[in-house]
Amino acid sequence: MERPHPREFACPFSDCPSNAGQDRRQHVVRHSRLRTRRGVRSRLFCRRCRRTFLPSHGTPYHRMQRPRRAFDAAILHLCEGASLAAVARCLGVATSTVSRWIERAARHARAWEEEHLVVKNPVELQLDELHSYGAAREVRSWVYNALEVWTRLWLASRVGTRTLRNTLLFSRVVRSRCRSVAAPILVITDEFKYYLQCLHRTFGPACVYVQVHNRYAHGRIVRSHAKLKLGNAWTLERARERSEDSKRPNTAYIERLNLHIRRSCAYLHRRTPSPMRKPQRLADALDINRLHYNFVRRHGSLRFGRECRTPAMQAGITSRPLTLREIFSWVPPLRPYAPPVNWSPTPVQDDR
Ligand SMILES: [Zn+2]
Repeated sequence: MERPHPREFACPFSDCPSNAGQDRRQHVVRHSRLRTRRGVRSRLFCRRCRRTFLPSHGTPYHRMQRPRRAFDAAILHLCEGASLAAVARCLGVATSTVSRWIERAARHARAWEEEHLVVKNPVELQLDELHSYGAAREVRSWVYNALEVWTRLWLASRVGTRTLRNTLLFSRVVRSRCRSVAAPILVITDEFKYYLQCLHRTFGPACVYVQVHNRYAHGRIVRSHAKLKLGNAWTLERARERSEDSKRPNTAYIERLNLHIRRSCAYLHRRTPSPMRKPQRLADALDINRLHYNFVRRHGSLRFGRECRTPAMQAGITSRPLTLREIFSWVPPLRPYAPPVNWSPTPVQDDR
């Protein structure tokens, strides 16, 4: 991989005056080179605050004792469905080390998504919830998922109980990842009761909402009945014309994603020997999985001739599949904390 020029780095210290101005990338120069067991490492210098730092400052690789390829391998194994203990055994490292790597990788994945995961002109969204198994009854919870069907982008997930509050917070995140909505988005869910008011509050007239009622027999869908809940027949027809994938409203694509998530996350395997003990662990694993699914893994149904794209390529976010090394070498921009203006928490009534 090509080494970035020092000028491409910003000073990583939040109290540095260079981070307040517009020309924050102009102050970093190379300071020194250090020969280590793993190769030559350069040290950078900020001319404004006169402090030195490593190019890996702010990334999960910062101050890591193990080689970067061990970190990448651990994350890749996790995304292929290995449990934390299995990864530790494969790589010959302690489980506490892998656990710390997962926390770092998940934090980085969230920063990456905040900066990069946006779908322009979304066509069709499918939302669903997945039941998750915990080690104890009280940590059993649900995983909300959202998929943009045309690009196959896994937009968001949320771990929690199926309450109005969680549904609202989840739909707000989904809405924030949809930009420049030119025509109403077709949103399809199952018959879960809170979606209607939450989608009405977050999307408003920007969506046509259809609820699909599936009837099952012997584990298979035998009858499917669609009900228009938001929008009118004309906007529904327009939204269906734009959608190339679904001839009739269905939840097939999100169910397929659910299967992928179950297979690629050890906490969500059926009868798993490694149930989650804290919901945050599951949320971290899903954040890493989503990063891998959207940006690294080529999607089988996005094959165009000899090219097989990732969902991020289909959405126009990247031009090629990225590697985990590229993503984890990215330095998140510094965001000085600013309290939102005129913000007050909206009371959410929960009737559970
Ligand atoms: Zn500085």
